[in-house]
Amino acid sequence: MRYLSTRRNCEPASFQTAILQGLAPDGGLYLPEVIPTLPVSFIHNLRQYSLQEIGEAVTRLFIGNEISQEGISHIIRNSLTFPAPITRLSESFGILELFHGPSLAFKDFGARFMAQTMGWFVEQREEPLHILVATSGDTGGAVADGFLDVPGITVSILYPKGGVSDIQERQLTTHGANITAYQVDGTFDDCQRMVKEAFLDADLQAKMSLSSANSINIARLIPQTFYYLSALSSLYRMGIPHEEQITFSVPSGNLGNVTAGLIAKRMGAPIAQLIAATNRNDTFPRYLKSGKFEPVRSQQTISNAMDVGNPSNFERLHILCEREHGILSKEILGDTFDDETTREEMRRCFKEHGYLIDPHGAVALLAARRHSATLQSPLQSHPHITIALGTAHPIKFERIVKEACGVTPPIPSQIAEILEREKQFTSLRSSFADLKECLLSSL
Ligand SMILES: *Cc1c(COP(=O)(O)O)cnc(C)c1O
Repeated sequence: MRYLSTRRNCEPASFQTAILQGLAPDGGLYLPEVIPTLPVSFIHNLRQYSLQEIGEAVTRLFIGNEISQEGISHIIRNSLTFPAPITRLSESFGILELFHGPSLAFKDFGARFMAQTMGWFVEQREEPLHILVATSGDTGGAVADGFLDVPGITVSILYPKGGVSDIQERQLTTHGANITAYQVDGTFDDCQRMVKEAFLDADLQAKMSLSSANSINIARLIPQTFYYLSALSSLYRMGIPHEEQITFSVPSGNLGNVTAGLIAKRMGAPIAQLIAATNRNDTFPRYLKSGKFEPVRSQQTISNAMDVGNPSNFERLHILCEREHGILSKEILGDTFDDETTREEMRRCFKEHGYLIDPHGAVALLAARRHSATLQSPLQSHPHITIALGTAHPIKFERIVKEACGVTPPIPSQIAEILEREKQFTSLRSSFADLKECLLSSL
């Protein structure tokens, strides 16, 4: 499989080049030349397959000839070490729980898979690699955990000062070893800009072999397709018939997750509709309405991992839909909710279902319910079910959950331990020159 930049201004790349470069040389994002499709029989028998089996089948299609069969099995075994169950709230709604990994957020899927595939290639070529990543919350924790102690790889993580929760900050700053955290005096967009500048800096590139781990890396998107398929598999196993319309509501920031959903659909997953649900950072829903993509500065909200004013995966969605607003706005619906409505939804969900949901999942659930309400018509021939993606464990937003629902989620074992450890980070101004100096001095 060859990988092409969304800007079409550079040579096609192998998978290895695409993941090690992260950003394409023309500043675009990599996508496979064609979206591979799963055999019809595979989709037909989906209920038989586990998350791991789905992961292997999909990975083979995306990178089959560059990594051996055993290599792929090894990568899947080491990255998919936790389940992605569905909790049904009612007949028509469910939560796909993507937060059972080590950092308690769905970014574990992307980060662990990427760490394993990069580790595999670095081992082959025997040249050290430096990972540079900006996080608005959960990426950093997942990346830190996924890459911890991977031989030949060092990691620098940039995060906005005051822009992440206490637990998130601990997940970034308490590993030590091959992981360094930078606390930036600025917003997530500043962090992301500094990372982008680093990748376009020829001098830095010449001195160190740099790679990204944001949702711009294609290796992050591939494993995110797995759970859409495994969610369908779980629903079929629960007795939901294949004809039933299944919609996924995706809490969205950089749009990586919903892009993976679209890729899964193009691979043949029977998905009726995808919804990108956002907080007040609504650049994408505004685009869906107006046809104009107008990035703005990000605003802080209680669902801070979605505080993105200039979602980078828009470029991928745009290309996947032939740069046609008409196609894109059919493939993906958008919806937006403010913090107050989100808090109310968390409260309602707990009261009605006894289910504690984090603010990101709550935004998705709101969009799921509003969309479902539009489908309640006597003319609707098939029943439908809407699955909201639960992207973070409620404990990661303990204070907000407590304020909204009056109870504290039980502390899972994954974080009981890091709460004991001390934060260690380097403070940075939001200047690329300062970052560059730090990176070079670490060589
Ligand atoms: C990153 C993140 C999101 C947004 O996902 P994108 O792929 O950036 O759209 C949503 N929820 C949580 C908890 C996240 O960490």
